[in-house]
Amino acid sequence: MSGLSERLEAVRGGIADAARDAGRDPGEITTIVVTKFHPESLIRELASLGVRDIGENRHQEAQAKARALADLDLRWHFVGQLQSKKARQVRAYASVIHSIDRESLVDALRSEDEEVDGFIQVNLTTDPNRGGVAPDELEPMVERVLATPGIRLLGLMAVAPLDESARVAFARTRALAERVRSLAPAATSLSMGMSHDYRDAILEGATHLRIGTAITGKRPA
Ligand SMILES: *Cc1c(COP(=O)(O)O)cnc(C)c1O
Repeated sequence: MSGLSERLEAVRGGIADAARDAGRDPGEITTIVVTKFHPESLIRELASLGVRDIGENRHQEAQAKARALADLDLRWHFVGQLQSKKARQVRAYASVIHSIDRESLVDALRSEDEEVDGFIQVNLTTDPNRGGVAPDELEPMVERVLATPGIRLLGLMAVAPLDESARVAFARTRALAERVRSLAPAATSLSMGMSHDYRDAILEGATHLRIGTAITGKRPA
């Protein structure tokens, strides 16, 4: 036994506890298991344990896994930085793109025939290399997405900075999401919370958790 099912159960229990403490229905929270660097066999095992939502952060790896596991009924979430020139290929297998953060990427995702679900990633740090739109550039980005056929805006995605309390960072994200909702009333989702901070994320309204190591164990080198 790899301990996978025990870790998955422990995290499911932690999610249920946090939801109860927040007065929320755990059924409204989607847990995405982030499997980057792990083999396809681990994803098969997760699927056998009832996991349907899988997250990956690198296009080539994600595409290969989605192809190899096409017999499973999985939903692929792309959570990493995405180059515009790869956008069309990613939308071919991904149901949800969590990392929309540039106008060129929005334009590359334009489609008259198909819709992909998307989150705008907001950068909670002052480091422009961290990925995500600066908070003061959020509104024009929302407008750009709304004006682009082929993307259904779900809401905001964020990663908590290392040098700030996750709870405080997620509270800021929640406030930004309320501003987004005044422009895009259907964008009610919030993608935030990882292995070490999913409880804080749930307390601040997260609807999509992206959890890796707490479920998968350590990533192979
Ligand atoms: C890897 C990754 C996660 C999961 O991180 P863990 O700390 O292993 O839970 C979540 N979100 C993104 C964007 C990631 O790249």
